[in-house]
Amino acid sequence: MRYVSTRGQSASNTNPSGPTFSEILLGGLAPDGGLYLPESYPQVSRSELEQWRALSYAELAYEVLSRFIDDIPPDDLKELLRRTYTAEVYCNGRVRERAGEITPLHWLEAPDPARGEGGLAILELSNGPTLAFKDMAMQLLGNLFEYVLAKQREEINILGATSGDTGSSAEYAMRGKQGVQVFMLSPHERMSAFQRAQMYSLHDANIHNIAVRGTFDDAQDIVKAVANDRAFKARYRIGAVNSINWARVAAQVVYYFKGYLAATSDAGDDDRQVAFAVPSGNFGNICAGHIARMMGLPIGRLVLATNENDVLDEFFRTGVYRPRATAETVATSSPSMDISKASNFERFVFDLVGRDPTVIRALWSAVDAGCGFDLSGTPFLARLPEFGFVSGRSTHADRLATIRGAFERYGLMIDTHTADGLKVGSEWRTAEMPMVILETALPAKFEETMVEALGRKPERPAALHGIEKLPQRVTVMDVSVEEVKRFIARQLG
Ligand SMILES: *Cc1c(COP(=O)(O)O)cnc(C)c1O
Repeated sequence: MRYVSTRGQSASNTNPSGPTFSEILLGGLAPDGGLYLPESYPQVSRSELEQWRALSYAELAYEVLSRFIDDIPPDDLKELLRRTYTAEVYCNGRVRERAGEITPLHWLEAPDPARGEGGLAILELSNGPTLAFKDMAMQLLGNLFEYVLAKQREEINILGATSGDTGSSAEYAMRGKQGVQVFMLSPHERMSAFQRAQMYSLHDANIHNIAVRGTFDDAQDIVKAVANDRAFKARYRIGAVNSINWARVAAQVVYYFKGYLAATSDAGDDDRQVAFAVPSGNFGNICAGHIARMMGLPIGRLVLATNENDVLDEFFRTGVYRPRATAETVATSSPSMDISKASNFERFVFDLVGRDPTVIRALWSAVDAGCGFDLSGTPFLARLPEFGFVSGRSTHADRLATIRGAFERYGLMIDTHTADGLKVGSEWRTAEMPMVILETALPAKFEETMVEALGRKPERPAALHGIEKLPQRVTVMDVSVEEVKRFIARQLG
């Protein structure tokens, strides 16, 4: 399998037919500024899909991912996936005896064809070490990095900025990994006590927490400045694990297959469809759903849910993509969806415009210049229904009402992001197919809003009791690119 850039220039002198999976694993953007996608989507037939019902999560992951990864020997890939998707790593879920399923499906309302009820379910994706769905892909990334770096006898130093979720997920995935050091910047005293404890209580020698006396944007700016210093970047082998990383998107494709099989596990006819509702920010999660659908998985609908930062809802309703300025981006109670532009969106639009890189270059030259684009009235927008997307928006008041409703009706506590998914997913339910809501975090991560909604604190998985009291390891710094560079240089000797 070769990979192409959405902007058309992925082949090079050394790689005339385009890079392979391992060659794009450690990088970010393609050299032309585009995003990588497979040259074509591998197809899965209905009969293959039926045979996959009996597989464990790791085995299913092998069937799906081996079609995208053909430069790692099959036995090595199998072993790597078996080590990644274990009940021990994904054991924080509420239904402990089902931990081996990795992503258990939980019916809120069972399907009832006699009453014209398609059913409503939650797919638990937050049972990993940091209680958010990002662990599903990041844990695999950690093992893939270690494997590929060892083969290439290389090392990488990951530099990132986080306001909470991504940083901790990356640190838990990379801790103790050979050949990898992590330098993670976070805004000093601006994260919750729980978030701080999650990251700063890691004492692994290859994990370096840096708290900058500033905001998340200040931290992000430092990361960009360091990455723009080509000499420094090359000398210290600086890399990233951001949401555009292809391996992260690919890893997320697997749970759509798992969710489909779980939601159709009772006897029924063969051409059943399933709808998925996805709390969305950078469009990584739902992009994986789009790819699963392009591979032939019978997904009837992909329901995109945003919070008040509704740039993507606006596009799917109107065809206008209008990235917001930082000042226009509001801080909400589903903070992991607070985005001004959606970094993975370019991947979907590439397919929407018939994979024409010329069109993408034109559209994204406007995006990169801080403007947007308008596809209304173009033949591209007319094709949108073929892709199964619909969308909706959820506000703080919706979130609180949905959390209360789910607790009263189903006795279930859901987090604020999953609540956005449930709110919008419920609006798009039909009698024809089950609606599966993707759970993106556990409520324990967002205590404050849970208390606001329900008047009580959410339960915390036993492994994380008292985490705030553990000794912490963090270096506090001013907002200074030079100071961060000096720190990195000193650590790497
Ligand atoms: C990252 C994140 C999202 C958004 O996912 P995208 O892949 O960026 O669309 C939603 N909910 C939670 C809890 C997250 O951490």
